[in-house]
Order: sequence, then C-alpha cells, then structure tokens
Amino acid sequence: MWPLLALVLGLVVGSFLNVVIHRLPKGESIVFPPSRCPSCGRRLAPMDLIPVVSYLALRGRCRYCDEPISPRYPLVEGLTGGLFLLAALFYPPSWEALWVFAFLALLVALSFIDLDTFELPDALTYGLLLLGLASAWLLSFPLPFREALDGALLAAGGLGLIAGYANLFLRRFQEGRAEVPVGPHQVHMAALFGALLGPGVGMALAFLTWALSARTGKPVVLPDRLTLPLLPLALLLAPTLGLDFLLSLKGALLAAGGLALAGGLYWAFRPAPEGEEEEPVAMGYGDVKLLGALGAWLGPYAFLALFLGVFAGAVVGLLLRQRKIPFGPYLALGGVAAFFFGEPLWRAYLAWLGLG
Ligand SMILES: [Zn+2]
Repeated sequence: MWPLLALVLGLVVGSFLNVVIHRLPKGESIVFPPSRCPSCGRRLAPMDLIPVVSYLALRGRCRYCDEPISPRYPLVEGLTGGLFLLAALFYPPSWEALWVFAFLALLVALSFIDLDTFELPDALTYGLLLLGLASAWLLSFPLPFREALDGALLAAGGLGLIAGYANLFLRRFQEGRAEVPVGPHQVHMAALFGALLGPGVGMALAFLTWALSARTGKPVVLPDRLTLPLLPLALLLAPTLGLDFLLSLKGALLAAGGLALAGGLYWAFRPAPEGEEEEPVAMGYGDVKLLGALGAWLGPYAFLALFLGVFAGAVVGLLLRQRKIPFGPYLALGGVAAFFFGEPLWRAYLAWLGLG
C-alpha cells in the first residue's frame, strides 16, 4: 500500500514541479494564476490536470485547441512518481521518508530548470542545502548535523577548487578578474591558509579580505597564480611541517567550501544596485552550490555523486555529440544514485580495484 501511495504522491508533486520548472526561472508566481494551455491560453480544468492520465486520455493534445502538449509534462510527473516509489522501498512511512521526498523533488526541479536555462536557481540549491542541514539538525537524518555540515563544505570546496584550477589552465595562467567584494579568489586563498593553519583561520583570513574589498571597493586579494599553485605544494610539504596530510587537505576543502557557500549566498541575496542593469552573474558556481547541497545529504559520498555525474555526463555528451551540456542533471542523477546505492556502489568500486 505504502509504495503505491508514494507513487501517487510523486505524480501529484511532479505535476506541481512542472509549474515550478516553467515559472520559477521567469520569476513568476508558482501558486497563481492557475494552469493554462501554453498554446491557446485556456484555463485548464481539474480533469485536464490529472498527472500522466490526462495526457494519455487526451492523446497528448490540448482538449480545446488540439495543439500537441509537450511530453515533458508527463515525463516529469512519471519520473517524480518513480523516484518517490523508489524512496518508499527504502523508507517506511515516516518523517524521514518525507524529507527524502523533498530531496528528490528539489533535484527534479533543479535538473529540468538547468536543462532549460543552463542555470541552477539559488532558491533551490540553497533550499536543498538548508533542508539537508535542517533534517540533520532535527532528526540526525540522513547524517548527524556535524557530518552534514562538513559534507556540504567539503563537497563545495572540492568542486570550487576544481573549477579554480580548470579556469586557471583555460586562461593559460593569466590572472582572472577579481570580484568585489567576494569571489573565487577568496575561495582559493581560504584553501591555501586552511591547509596550513586550519579551516577556521583560513576562513577568517579570507573573510578579512572580503571585508577590506567591500570597504575599499577594490579587490583586496592574493592572485590565483600564487594561491592555486601553492596549495598542492603546501599539501605535499605538510608532513615536513609536522602537519597531517589528510587533515591539511580537509582544512583546505572546509575553508574553501565555507567561502564558496557564503560568497554564493552573498551574491544570491545582495540587493540589486540601483540604476544598473543586471550584472552578469558573479561567482557563477551553480554546480558548486548544488554539490555542496548534496554534501549535506550525502557526506563524503557527494564525491561519489560527482564522479558518477562526470561519468554520466561524459557518456551522454559523447553519445549526443553536444558541445554544451548542463552539468546539474548529471550531478542530480549522481546524487540520487549515491543516496540510495552509495555504499554498495563504493564497495563494488573497491572490489573492482582489487581493494575490497
Ligand atoms: Zn490549448
């Protein structure tokens, strides 16, 4: 009975997600007005809005104008229903199950919005992060709070640094423009000092340059050409300085993650400057925030999600021969796989390496 109930709930939630996916990127209200046919604008009756069933009964066409309805609508509904059913097989009826439903619903919305717009809305990535931390705080589920927080920072820091190195190589070691008051420069700096002096000091120093940049209106940062190459050197030399290599690496990632998520939050909620046009999105970092949010739910398994996402994205990219593919859907897919099957996948991988 429970899996069936979860399936039906998933179909209904999927129908709502269609509205979110359609309206959220345009900044339209999600609750009002009621659903209309995108072709003829006729308001849809309740009987037109039964998930999947209406689409099949109408044979994929609008009842009023006969224009085809995108198969995306029943696809999103069916996918959400299937994911909720999967969750119900792992979790009995409980608060935990409801949190997992929310986790899955947010990932579906993020994936399809990224497919449409190549953007991951802050409201949803930070929503996913907050929900993961809140669940950890209230229920110690799926992780104790401390592990959820560390997971979020480690994952965001890890991908933030990967992005930093990728950009540095793509620019052929030319220094990139530093963003005022906070941008990737502070993330890289936090990592370097986090590796040497611990995550608290690393973050504090980076926050200091953030404050100085805000006060002076000019970037007060160390150049990426310095911080990024010094970081692996610091990690390699850590043992000779009497530091533990793994602790140094953890310090670097925690500090970087703290700056990436705090900086992203600043840019997300900063009041738009008056009289100016919308700036190009500073500190893009959409995938960094998404992986950070996944880290709150998955802990270190977020890195498995990243690995699976890169793998799936590469395979699909090769198959479709597309040059530009959004990464969010693959990260979300990796996140769902790691959430339900993380341990068996990890054990299978170790066994494959001959380490199991
Ligand atoms: Zn119509």
